[in-house]
Amino acid sequence: MIKKQVYQEAQKRATQLIRSSGIKISDKESEELQVADFGLGQFEKEGAQIFTFCNTERVSTKVIVLFPNQTLPEHKHNPVGSDPGKEETLRVISGRLRLYIPGVDTVNEGFIPTDQEAYYTSRHEIILNEYEQLTLAPGTKHWFQAGDNPVVVYSICTGARDELDTFSNPKVVRTTQIID
Ligand code: ZN
Repeated sequence: MIKKQVYQEAQKRATQLIRSSGIKISDKESEELQVADFGLGQFEKEGAQIFTFCNTERVSTKVIVLFPNQTLPEHKHNPVGSDPGKEETLRVISGRLRLYIPGVDTVNEGFIPTDQEAYYTSRHEIILNEYEQLTLAPGTKHWFQAGDNPVVVYSICTGARDELDTFSNPKVVRTTQIID
């Protein structure tokens, strides 16, 4: 749940960061930019700002903005019928991204959000800087985080079915509730 005024301020802040990263976004698109709190009610800590500019049955392309020390909660993209689930490529446009996938625990630069250890099981840290990218195979649990500076990344996915993503935290709700 996010107050309308806070939601709109976050949209404006994310828009400025997108524009200063070199990507064009219209005022109308800015108004539609999604501020996700994942139903956890602390979006500055666990949340993301998402500009989706292509969303078809086959492809989904987004610009994701994380504010300083903001974490996008751990999730994975599940198979659907004969489809193995979404493949996702993350490419940093500006800033420095901390990305976590399963493997040897190398958490060093980043941190698990306070009291949320159970919901962040992927502990293998990968740092992506500008011009760097990584492709996640379908079904790979992952989460990511900004450091002291904001980060702007492309997320390019096969067939967008975000509603089928499962988050490690069962309290996650994908649609942000906006209140006056
Ligand atoms: Zn993902």
